[in-house]
Amino acid sequence: MTSVAHRSVLQVSDLAMHFAAPAPGDPHAVIRAVDGVDLHLRTGETLGLVGESGCGKSTLGRCLVRLYRPTRGSIVLHADGASTDIASLDDRRLRPLRRHIQMIFQDPYASLDPRMTVAEIIAEPLRVHTDLDRSGRAKAVASLLDDVGLAAAHANRFPHEFSGGQRQRIGIARAIASRPAAIVCDEPISALDVSIRAQILNLLADLQREHSLSLLFIAHDLAAVRHISHRVAVMYLGRVVEVAPAAELYARPHHPYTRALMSAAPVPDPDIERSRERILLRGEPPSPRNPPPGCPFHPRCPEARPECSSSRPALRRVGQNHEVACVLERAQGT
Ligand code: SF4
Repeated sequence: MTSVAHRSVLQVSDLAMHFAAPAPGDPHAVIRAVDGVDLHLRTGETLGLVGESGCGKSTLGRCLVRLYRPTRGSIVLHADGASTDIASLDDRRLRPLRRHIQMIFQDPYASLDPRMTVAEIIAEPLRVHTDLDRSGRAKAVASLLDDVGLAAAHANRFPHEFSGGQRQRIGIARAIASRPAAIVCDEPISALDVSIRAQILNLLADLQREHSLSLLFIAHDLAAVRHISHRVAVMYLGRVVEVAPAAELYARPHHPYTRALMSAAPVPDPDIERSRERILLRGEPPSPRNPPPGCPFHPRCPEARPECSSSRPALRRVGQNHEVACVLERAQGT
């Protein structure tokens, strides 16, 4: 794995995304999909983002590429020598900055316009965000196709002529075309056949290394996240509860939720798999419509204490590049 610079390309502070969800008797009800996230993405790193379905990780990704306008908080983008808080920028001021943050979508069948050829799809960000002329764009498209393992002859075909894995390669070529400062990969392998997931994962890892891309890799597949990530952040009910270098997090998870999550992930070694302890959590995650007070994990936490239902722990440093949001860390003074 390549070394990572210590500059941030994205700095996220107290980010929240609440959706209006009026209910009988509660016309002002909201769903708190993201509820106070602090996170940074370093230049040239892959940051994995894991958590159960509905924890807010995809919503967070969509806020970062500004498909959603966050309810509060900041997203500072460092690109082209400037730092800009893009969280609340209007469309006009956002437009020239969009090339710096691109997205690879989960569903390669829905994310490509069926009426456009592959060349047109990949050239679109070049047409919008660069001053390349038609022949410059054609050369760039050929090079991008090569980068993602497709042939130049594929350029004039339409998306329906490709398999899911090939379509995801087209989506990746489109995402890297404008040489973005950061790419949000939203579950990029989960809709693909199991047999080709590793190929796409390895392609992303290779491109990350070759081009020093900065990737936010959102997934629920813990093995895939471990394989590709320099650091990993764990989300629970709209918040980041732990973030650490990947090897450290998988070897020594601190937060009780991270420990439970890791204990449920299969391990390839059958001896370790047989002997390791599984932590079973009580119940389902609470609804983001009605998050519990205090630590959002307290109704399910095997280590909850009385104070956990009233005080909401902030992320605090417990080791080098390792942060955890849990009162136990404070109690242990680590
Ligand atoms: Fe569990 Fe309390 Fe830590 Fe939350 S703060 S994870 S409830 S011990």
